[in-house]
Amino acid sequence: MLNDTIAAIATPAGTGGVAVIRLSGSQAIARAAEVFQPIRGASPVDMAGYTCSYGYFMDHDQILDDVILTIFRAPHSYTGEDVAEISCHGGRFLAQKILRSVLCEKIRPAEPGEFTRRAFLNGKLSLTQAEAVADLISASGENALKYARTLRDGATFRRISAFSQKLLEILSDLAVWADYPDEDLPAVESTVLSEKLHTLLKEMQSLLATYDYGRILREGLHTVIVGKPNVGKSTLFNALSGYERSIVTDIAGTTRDVIEEQIRLGDVMLRLSDTAGVHGTDDKIEQIGVERSIASLSQADLILAVFDLSAPFTEEDHTLLEKLPPEKTILVYNKSDQSQEVFRELPFQPVDMIEISAKHGKNLPALEKAVEAFAARHASPAEDGMIANERQRICLEQAVSGVAEAIQALDQGFAYDAVTVSLDAAADALLQLTGERVTDKVVDTVFSRFCVGK
Ligand code: GDP
Repeated sequence: MLNDTIAAIATPAGTGGVAVIRLSGSQAIARAAEVFQPIRGASPVDMAGYTCSYGYFMDHDQILDDVILTIFRAPHSYTGEDVAEISCHGGRFLAQKILRSVLCEKIRPAEPGEFTRRAFLNGKLSLTQAEAVADLISASGENALKYARTLRDGATFRRISAFSQKLLEILSDLAVWADYPDEDLPAVESTVLSEKLHTLLKEMQSLLATYDYGRILREGLHTVIVGKPNVGKSTLFNALSGYERSIVTDIAGTTRDVIEEQIRLGDVMLRLSDTAGVHGTDDKIEQIGVERSIASLSQADLILAVFDLSAPFTEEDHTLLEKLPPEKTILVYNKSDQSQEVFRELPFQPVDMIEISAKHGKNLPALEKAVEAFAARHASPAEDGMIANERQRICLEQAVSGVAEAIQALDQGFAYDAVTVSLDAAADALLQLTGERVTDKVVDTVFSRFCVGK
């Protein structure tokens, strides 16, 4: 399958200044020579890598467009193969016409992600880097972009390779010692081994902890707005998301369910949920909403807890305060335009406290700043790599438990064989993570996320 030559439109659907049709494989340049007629200069077959030429795209005898042809020669291309890129005038119709005319019995349409898959199979990218390409394409903010860039640059791969390297060294010490018991080799000291494994375990765990950073950057901070009925949760939700979305009424308990919205505050993506108030109720429908909103507190990255300054602080407010985890709660005192309430001392130190008027848009920028500051602490791209998705997390968790088991086996005085088995499993999980030892099925899943042309 790697031998054939593929082609696809590499630019997004829609009208733009330029569209690019990309060909990759052994026939790419030969085919380019058949369809491209240079205005002056060499035929594509004689063009050096990293050069381009201006000319006509020919469909038999007919000129379809004037285009720029860029040639990349294997292995110095994105895929590692010969690549020809035809930049034509933008517009889906023209690009498709050119693509159709490029396709022939030796050139077939590329499948989603197939260019990047070839890059992976030709050793140009690790699997974690390939995944980062998909993330780059769908990056939704400056931070997410920075993060995908870090991964694309191979920081994660390097960090994981260092783990593999250390594991393999330990495994080879153990193997030598087990295989040549009669030789006068220095014994593998169990305390030294245990120390090495503990250090490795810590390093692996700290990489694992970056998973939340990646998730937040990719999906946004999971943010819930809580508070008793009528404090202005829906009004705040609408003010933040910029348009009427959840129902705002004067009757307590009208926000019955969790509504979700993805919004951007400054450079922070928020996945914002507007929940029913946290309070005791007999109403069945309302009850479901309340239960869900309490459940959503534990799953949230950030909680905006809303209190009403225009009315006295009640028992319900107090109950809510007690349920809030301070380290991820911003207290929002709403209706500052009708403020009467003097707040009593808080039982904890929240992330921040902001007085606003959601209805009049007062002090919302301060709230935005507080959210940004919170996000900066929880979702800053780690320059030395991070775990970007569920697949990577599962592999790394397997590796972590392999090392933890090995430590346990050592502590309990088991033979080194038992230690070796656990460490082997850990090493295998790491190789799967980087794609150095991986099944076709995993590769298929990774590349199924891609669009055609990438
Ligand atoms: P929820 O039940 O917590 O979602 O509360 P709503 O958003 O439905 O708001 C309840 C009532 O408070 C509505 O009449 C809003 O217009 C009003 N309200 C919301 N924010 C403010 C505010 O900042 N000042 C004043 N005066 N009223 C507000």
